[in-house]
Amino acid sequence: MNIVWKPVRNKSNGRFGYKPEAIVIHIAEGWLNGAYSWFNNPSSQASAHYMIGKNGVIWQFVADEDTAWHAGGVNQPRWALLKPRINPNLYTIGIEHEGFTGEVWTDEMYEASSELITSLCTKYKIPLDRNHIIGHNQINSVSRDRCPGTGVNFDKLIELAKTKYEDPVIIKELNEKIAVLEKKVNELEDANSGLAKENEILKVKNQQLQNLVKSYTDTPADVAGLKQENAKLRTEIQNLQENQKRLNSKIKALESRLDSDSESRDNEDEDDETFLESLWGFIRGK
Ligand SMILES: [Zn+2]
Repeated sequence: MNIVWKPVRNKSNGRFGYKPEAIVIHIAEGWLNGAYSWFNNPSSQASAHYMIGKNGVIWQFVADEDTAWHAGGVNQPRWALLKPRINPNLYTIGIEHEGFTGEVWTDEMYEASSELITSLCTKYKIPLDRNHIIGHNQINSVSRDRCPGTGVNFDKLIELAKTKYEDPVIIKELNEKIAVLEKKVNELEDANSGLAKENEILKVKNQQLQNLVKSYTDTPADVAGLKQENAKLRTEIQNLQENQKRLNSKIKALESRLDSDSESRDNEDEDDETFLESLWGFIRGK
């Protein structure tokens, strides 16, 4: 929301101890520059805190803390919260609107005016309702009965303002929730960095274990030991094979001896036959 500061001379400094409790809506019966001149003219005895242009601009003529001269005359009021015998200027904020009574407000006017109303209600804790957003005619229903006139729909203006309203209580609750969430995020970030550190330690340990495993599988001494055992086994096998050969030759030798023994025994048998024949011949008288 952009507010153009256009200070004017028609005002009273301060509020005599009062503070803004309501917002009074006016129609200017004129243009922005005309109102600005009028509020600087001491003979007009008139001013307002703000003015909304038909195009949605917002001019500020008098500071909120000071008293603008916009609704001083009370005549047959129709406002429940009017303070008797107290100048309404002291406890209200006046907002003028560019144009003439009966002219339908532009969308830009509704937009800017509702945004300003929302901002002021938030700042000064003014309830956003028809008792606190009033027309000038509710303070002076006689000579100001056409201010702001039929060009503005108060219900629409207030509803629009409500859509922009940010309840301070809700904002406080939201801020508290945000603080809790931020704390949780911080805790999670701390935990995460702790885990990252643990992860680094585990990585180092894992690398150490891998190195250890590698050193065991690659030990040259073990390989040499296995080679020696292998060589020993080969020698033993060779020895066994040689023994086998030797045994084979012994078996062959024994076999050939057995053969020759049986041949000689056959010869002996022949001799025995010859002997028996000769003996038989002798016996028959040869
Ligand atoms: Zn007015």
